[in-house]
Amino acid sequence: MKTRAASLFATLAIAFVADSAHATASGTTVITNGTLINPGTGKVTENAVITIQGDHISAVGQTSATDIPKKGDRVIDARGKFILPGYIDTHVHFFQSGDIYTRPDAVDLTSIRSYKDEHAWIDRNKLDTLARYIRCGITSVVDVGGPMWNFAMRKFANSTEKAPRVAAAGPLISSVSRPQLELNGDPPIVKIETPEQGVQLVQKLAKEKPDYVKIWYIVNAENPVEKFRPIVHAVIAESHRLKLRVAVHATELEAARTSVEEGADLLVHSVTDKLVDDAFVKLLKEHGTILTPTLVVFERYGRTFANKLNLTPEEKAWGNPEVIASLDVTKIPADKIPERIKTALANPDAVLDRIQKTYDIALKNLKTLQDAGITIAAGTDAGNIGTIHGPALFREFQLMKEAGLTPMQILQSTTANAAKTFGGETGAKIGAIEPGKFADLVILKSNPLDDIARTSDIEAVMKNGILYPAEK
Ligand SMILES: [Zn+2]
Repeated sequence: MKTRAASLFATLAIAFVADSAHATASGTTVITNGTLINPGTGKVTENAVITIQGDHISAVGQTSATDIPKKGDRVIDARGKFILPGYIDTHVHFFQSGDIYTRPDAVDLTSIRSYKDEHAWIDRNKLDTLARYIRCGITSVVDVGGPMWNFAMRKFANSTEKAPRVAAAGPLISSVSRPQLELNGDPPIVKIETPEQGVQLVQKLAKEKPDYVKIWYIVNAENPVEKFRPIVHAVIAESHRLKLRVAVHATELEAARTSVEEGADLLVHSVTDKLVDDAFVKLLKEHGTILTPTLVVFERYGRTFANKLNLTPEEKAWGNPEVIASLDVTKIPADKIPERIKTALANPDAVLDRIQKTYDIALKNLKTLQDAGITIAAGTDAGNIGTIHGPALFREFQLMKEAGLTPMQILQSTTANAAKTFGGETGAKIGAIEPGKFADLVILKSNPLDDIARTSDIEAVMKNGILYPAEK
């Protein structure tokens, strides 16, 4: 073990010298004496020694008399602590702040804050938003759709030190339009009416090298499942021809089934209208489709509007305070309360009942898919009203636990499984603590395998080899 680690170390040390111009931290850091948890393999290593060179993990072993650290190394003594790969949230939207003004297509409060001002707020606060992810131990996120601005945001995040790694999709290819969200001719949602239009948009997006092409498969009376299918078919075929992966929002069983039959790589929501059937499970398995259950967002719109928001201690502590303050709907002037909020406030029990009915199906479906061996990746839809950038992930873990997933399964979903949604060179270097991976990790004060709630009991977070003590 030691010899192998040592020789790996030597190999990587050479690689590091060649690459040192790009390193963001210098020298060697050794984390000793902690318990290392690698959810991807399920392996737990006590008295672990993790050696970090620059932005990479160079060796992983166990403490012994002659083992590293060497003189001059920076040593982090993690005795009594638990070390995990950095968490990954596979479903966020940076073009949305999570505040009450962020979706004027859902509730129009533009007479209080215009959509232009809302977007300006988001752009002005992007460093703050990114830093909050690091505070929560989230070292990578997938932005599954927004305006073309998303690609600039991805570039900004990926050149910012205290920020998660960002993969991004551009505008959502949709059966419906949302003109309320369009600024400067850069809409986040584009209504596509013919397969040819879909192909053209994919070709335009391809120039930005998106990590995903995103389809927003909205089903309603005017848009039955079959009507949009030719567009789904054409968009996925063209994306795959261009070696681009496709993520689909589909919450009805038949829309989700159609998406997978057409080749969707990632489903970013749970099915909520029906319990999944064996044929659907088999289909996901055959296609190797990844599913992000995205549970927390289902409760947050309704609970916000009904003045029943159940933010967790993590969200209250680490969420943006301006965003959280805006969610108090009782502060909206009476003459400006939108109809949807009025209705919710008049009958909050009906709202909570609807949320419960959705969860009755979604949680059961998650358990079925997990038990069947489908790759489940954790995600929140952060940025939607009431779903807080960063700490929303801890509420997502709670809901996954309610569905019956074990702590190890939940940890897998936010590390090794989530890394698969990232894809490419970056995806291959995140989600595990192994030589050659990026030094992205979380050090916890207590054992998350005993209780998933402890995932927020954070001592320190490391991203790219740079350590951020929680207190800072
Ligand atoms: Zn979403």
